Amino acid sequence: MTDSLLDLPPLSAARFASIEDRVARLLATEQDVVIMQGEALLPLEGAIRGVAGPGTTALNVITGPYGQTFGQWLRDCGATVHDLPVPYHTAVTADRIEKAFTEHPEIDFVSLVHAEAATGNTNPVAEIGEVVRARGALFYLDAVASVGAEPVLPDAWGVDLCVIGAQKAMGGPAGVSAVSVSERAWARMAANPRAPRRSYLSLLDWKERWIDAGRTALPHAPAQLEMLALEACLERIEAVGLDEVMARHRRAAAATRAGAAALGGGLEPYVHKASEAAPVATTLRAPAGIAAFDLVARALETDPSLPLAAGGGPLAQEMIRVNHYGPHATREAVEASLTALAAALADRGAAVDGEAAREAVAKAWR
Ligand SMILES: *Cc1c(COP(=O)(O)O)cnc(C)c1O
Repeated sequence: MTDSLLDLPPLSAARFASIEDRVARLLATEQDVVIMQGEALLPLEGAIRGVAGPGTTALNVITGPYGQTFGQWLRDCGATVHDLPVPYHTAVTADRIEKAFTEHPEIDFVSLVHAEAATGNTNPVAEIGEVVRARGALFYLDAVASVGAEPVLPDAWGVDLCVIGAQKAMGGPAGVSAVSVSERAWARMAANPRAPRRSYLSLLDWKERWIDAGRTALPHAPAQLEMLALEACLERIEAVGLDEVMARHRRAAAATRAGAAALGGGLEPYVHKASEAAPVATTLRAPAGIAAFDLVARALETDPSLPLAAGGGPLAQEMIRVNHYGPHATREAVEASLTALAAALADRGAAVDGEAAREAVAKAWR
């Protein structure tokens, strides 16, 4: 057994604070950063419950499954929720957000997922942020799938609550996560009688017991191994360079898209416009008459370690996900995924051109 995982000195408050500071640098933010001791759903839920109440009117953009979950939390908090569903093969536009504000000027909170690993789209947060700021609403962003794959800039974009996790493009642990919180968001929470207090979901607890107390004593025992893994992951990104990590994801997405198109056999990019396709993961539409989950299962038979998955729930029929993020943001992973899909398609009688796909990947990778 690996005793090095067990016989560790306690994680000091100073070290914990330094990891928070590293996250703040990654996000180029001056806002407070709180590292929550759980998977990203913890700050995602904690932030909504912290700011939302019966007086809240929320615009909830749904570009994938997480938006649906946010809507449920918001309603559970008593908020009035205007859902803005967007077809999964596209992205939302700043114009649609502007139109929603025109129809419902009382909107004072906007929830948005930046990039969706589950559906493969990415939304223009900078432009949307301008609209939200002009209307004075609070802006909540799920950047779990985008951070590390494309720029995430809460200060420049006017994001008040920006949640990240390390398990996707950062190639880090899933067990801790972080949220940046603006002064406006803290004020909204402090004024919210329903904001969780003395609760695992509470961001205010962290503010009062940790940040305002000078970050000198941890309120409870941290998830030490996960914190060390997050630190190692941040160090690795700093060593390689965030720009290079993002470039790898961009290349992997472009290569997957180009390779799938060249492969033929009826395989198509799920997200129509390349500009709306997320660098973190590429979704493909299975050919008519062939179930995506079946193709993925066959492809994984050749190599279970490939970053392939079928879409969740009803999308399992039509959507193939190539999760080329973190350690899989490589040309090898993209090529191997397409080769395995080609074999699965050929197996089902589709005419595919594996050589053309390999060439397209090589060209796109350069
Ligand atoms: C992955 C992801 C999360 C975190 O959820 P897990 O499935 O538990 O990893 C949250 N939001 C988005 C947009 C994600 O892609």
